[in-house]
Amino acid sequence: MKILVPVKRVIDYNVKVRVKSDQSGVDLANVKMSMNPFDEIAVEQAVRLKESGTAQEIIAVSIGPEKAQDQIRQALAMGADRGVLIKTDQEVEPLAVAKLLQKIIEEEKPDLVILGKQAIDDDCNQTGQMLAALLGWGQGTFISKVELAGDKVTATREIDGGLQVVAVPLPAILTVDLRLNEPRYASLPNIMKAKKKPLDVKDIADFGVDVAPRLEVLKVTEPPKREAGVKVETVAELVDKLKNEAGVL
Ligand code: AMP
Repeated sequence: MKILVPVKRVIDYNVKVRVKSDQSGVDLANVKMSMNPFDEIAVEQAVRLKESGTAQEIIAVSIGPEKAQDQIRQALAMGADRGVLIKTDQEVEPLAVAKLLQKIIEEEKPDLVILGKQAIDDDCNQTGQMLAALLGWGQGTFISKVELAGDKVTATREIDGGLQVVAVPLPAILTVDLRLNEPRYASLPNIMKAKKKPLDVKDIADFGVDVAPRLEVLKVTEPPKREAGVKVETVAELVDKLKNEAGVL
């Protein structure tokens, strides 16, 4: 079995995001970038499937700038076998990402594609679903458990108010949720070994995919500042504040 894992370079989740003064977007200058946390979970799952003997090869793919090689190398250090970077300095929306991944999938013919459920920069939660539609494959989204047997994958999905178990025939698309696993840290020897693993850099223009944006960002603003809390003396005072100040009762 061959598994493909798309990994996105995003602002590190610990960074306090700053909005540009002209409100056109988020300031990326000198900001720490990392692999999208959900993609770390996806890589971890692929590596576990390889370690258990279910999978033989893992390919990590990223669409992004030259520096996205760092995130591919991290996937390689965690246990992926080789990487592909589709290089672009433009922002690429989920539909275009899905179309580019479709091309790579047609070439590589993986049995399973494991994506993050969402990228923490755009919070789109669209790429996996669009990719499944483009390929005509089944999908298990928001998964917190996965089992592979024969030619099908059984995935437990985290849905509102509970869990849903679905069986999806291979080849399939999975998008992973937070509780699926805890990704490993790459050890220093594995980081060193990852430097020697193959990483193919391709130019986005060679794919013949329309990557023109379909969305226009009108404005990006910071969330309103939280106001300081107050202590109340009695339950009656609390109820009064909830009714007359917060307006929630
Ligand atoms: P999104 O639909 O943007 O929330 O992203 C969902 C998932 O799609 C991510 O967790 C990644 O697995 C994958 N993905 C999105 N954009 C990219 C990209 N530029 N390069 C590689 N994978 C991506």
